[in-house]
Amino acid sequence: MSQKLVIKNIGLLLSGKMEEPIFDGDCLIALDGKIAEWGSEKDLDTSGADTIVDANGVTLAPGLIDSHVHPVVGDYTPRQQQLHWIDSTLHGGVTTMISAGEVHMPGRPKDIVGLKAMSIAAQRWYENFRPSGVKVHAGAPVIEHGMVEEDFKDLADAGVKLMGEVGLGSVKDGKTAHQMVEWARKYGIQSTIHTGGPSIPGSGLIDADMVLETGTDVVGHINGGHSALPDDQIVCLCESCRAALEIVHNGNERAALLTLNTARELGKLDQIILGTDGPAGSGVQPLGILRMVAMLSSLGDVPAEIAMCFGNGNTARRRKLDVGLIEKDYCADFVLMDQAQHAPGKTILESIQLGNLPGVGMTIIDGVVRTQRSRNTPPARRLPEVVA
Ligand SMILES: [Zn+2]
Repeated sequence: MSQKLVIKNIGLLLSGKMEEPIFDGDCLIALDGKIAEWGSEKDLDTSGADTIVDANGVTLAPGLIDSHVHPVVGDYTPRQQQLHWIDSTLHGGVTTMISAGEVHMPGRPKDIVGLKAMSIAAQRWYENFRPSGVKVHAGAPVIEHGMVEEDFKDLADAGVKLMGEVGLGSVKDGKTAHQMVEWARKYGIQSTIHTGGPSIPGSGLIDADMVLETGTDVVGHINGGHSALPDDQIVCLCESCRAALEIVHNGNERAALLTLNTARELGKLDQIILGTDGPAGSGVQPLGILRMVAMLSSLGDVPAEIAMCFGNGNTARRRKLDVGLIEKDYCADFVLMDQAQHAPGKTILESIQLGNLPGVGMTIIDGVVRTQRSRNTPPARRLPEVVA
C-alpha cells in the first residue's frame, strides 16, 4: 500500500524552474514521498488519500535548499553553542542543506587518515539521523597537503560525495587544489571553494585567479564570507565561470547584487544559487534563504518567482539532487507560505519583491508534514491545514 498525500486549494504553485516558474494547478499528489502529479483538482484522482492538506489558498514551492552550511553533529553547532539550529532553519522553509565542510568540529583532524575518517563518519551520522527530517548532505573533507588520488577514491567508495571549501585547509595554491579537485571529480565528488578574504582567524584569502585555476563545481560564496573580493574580480568570475555562482547570507550584500546584476547581463541567472554559510561567526540564520530571496528580488529587481528559483531549483540542478523542483518522481519536499500579515503588496510575489519575507505555514519532507505554522517567520495571512 502506497502512502498518498493530497494537497488541495493551492493558491499559487511555484515550480523551482526559472524557465517556467509558475505552474497551473491548485492540487498536487504525492505517492510514497515522491511527486506523482499536479494540476486542477477536478482532473486528478484524489481518492484514497492517507493525508489531505488544505492549502487554503497559500503558495506551494519546492522546499528551499541551503547550498552552504557548516554542520558538525546532529542539531548542535559548537561555533555558537547553539542547539536546534537546523530545526529553526526548517521553520524558514529549508528542507535540504549541503555541507561545505564540518570545519567547526572541535579538534578537527588534519592528518589524512583522520580527515577521511571524520568525513565518512559525518556523511553517515547525517544520513542516519536527519534533524527534524531535514536532509543534511554532509561529510565534506577539507583538503590538506599530502592527499593523493587514492584518498579521493577511498572517500568516494565510502559514500562521500562532497568536498569542503577549498582554502580552509593547508592547500592554498591553485595548482595543488586543481589537481585534487580533478581527482575528486573523477570519482564523483563535487567541489566548492572559499572565495574572498579570510572568514575567521586561521583562514586565508582566495582571489579570482585561484578560484579560476582550481576550477571547482561551485564558486563558494562569490560575495565573500564575509569579505568580498574587489568588484573587478567578481565580474571576472561571473564572466569566466560556468560553475555555480553561490551567493550567501553571511557575505557582502553589495557584492551579492553585483553578482546578480553581472550574471543577468551575461544571461547566467541559471547559475545563481543561495546559501547561508551558517553556522558562522555571525551566527545561524534560520530565515537566511528567504531573506536572500527577498533581498535579491527587491534590491536586484528580480521577479520574486525567479528569485525563489535561486533558492531551490537552481541549486537542485547544480547539485544534482532529486529535490527543489516540481517534477514527477522528485521528492515531495515543500514549503507552503503566504504573504505576511500587514506586509504591503497586492500578492505574495509583490510583497516579496517589496523586500518582505513571506510567512511559512507548513513544511513537508518526503510527503510527510514536518512543521506547521513557523515560529520564526512573520505570521502568514492564511495557513494551510491538515484536514485528514
Ligand atoms: Zn568560506
